[in-house]
Amino acid sequence: MAIDLRSDTVTRPSAAMREAIAQAPVGDDVYSDDPTVNSLEERVAALFGKEAGVFTPTGSLANQLAIRMLVAPGEELIAETNSHIVRAELGAAAVFSGITTRTFPAKNGLLKASDALEIARPNSGPYLVSTTAIAVENTHNFGGGTVQPITEIAALRKGAAELGLALHLDGARIWNAHVASGVSFTEYGRYFDTISVCLSKGLGAPIGSVMLSTKERVGKARVWRKRYGAGMRQVGLLAAGAHYALDNNIARLSEDHRRAQELAVAIAAIDSSLIDPTTVHTNIVGLDLTALPITAAELAARCKDAGLWISALGPQYVRLVTHLDFDDAQCAEAIEILKKALVA
Ligand SMILES: *Cc1c(COP(=O)(O)O)cnc(C)c1O
Repeated sequence: MAIDLRSDTVTRPSAAMREAIAQAPVGDDVYSDDPTVNSLEERVAALFGKEAGVFTPTGSLANQLAIRMLVAPGEELIAETNSHIVRAELGAAAVFSGITTRTFPAKNGLLKASDALEIARPNSGPYLVSTTAIAVENTHNFGGGTVQPITEIAALRKGAAELGLALHLDGARIWNAHVASGVSFTEYGRYFDTISVCLSKGLGAPIGSVMLSTKERVGKARVWRKRYGAGMRQVGLLAAGAHYALDNNIARLSEDHRRAQELAVAIAAIDSSLIDPTTVHTNIVGLDLTALPITAAELAARCKDAGLWISALGPQYVRLVTHLDFDDAQCAEAIEILKKALVA
């Protein structure tokens, strides 16, 4: 079996998770009749200190429902240049919601509140686009799984409140941020008006995300979810996998972080220009190949031939993501494959 480090979405449900799925009580969720979905939405909302949540098939949809609730058509969302909302949701904010975005770059995706606040232009009248919300990604995927400093999040909240701006958290990997930083979910929850979380990344559920906010916003988002074609029926089957993931798979994320650190240290020992291990905060290891005579596609192809799958995300950038189905033996093997592929 190949070692697959392309993403933490590649995990397969364990036998115990499948058992929980098989046993789940279900109902028609479009009628709000599915007890397993209802309890999941309530559980995740309570975890982050929010009033309500709505279950979605993808994190992209959870993000899109959230920002739709915060930003009206023709208004503006501010986000980091390499954020998922801007780069990996295929223009959904513009296509679905008529939202324009303006971006600020941040090294390793790490938020500086002042960078976002300086470009915000609320209430711009009839000539310029008005900013109404700012999105923060934590951990930052294309930034290399970096954990946002809580002091900057707090500063952003303060500045946004002064300007009358709402804040959205793309918390696809907030679980990893929590385990790495020790900051509680309710603390993260306090700073944001809307939150999206993924259950299908590090937590290992097959499908599912939740969008969290006030009862009022979540009620409206439910209407939009149906309008977008994601009103699902006996979807408690999937919510049961998510419950299982919350019960069993949060604390163990520290193992993924340890293995990512081991990969980073071993790769830096081959060539220190590839990665600075101190920038690896969680389960994502991004390699910069600019100083090497090899492209990302070539490295990915060499590794694949040797039984290791990694992602070439840019011409000279590859990403390795550790996860639930990646153990210590595979970690040692992956390091050997990378050593050969990088010096070949
Ligand atoms: C994976 C991810 C999402 C959601 O992705 P889906 O594939 O739509 O579930 C959102 N934000 C970030 C930062 C992600 O990494």
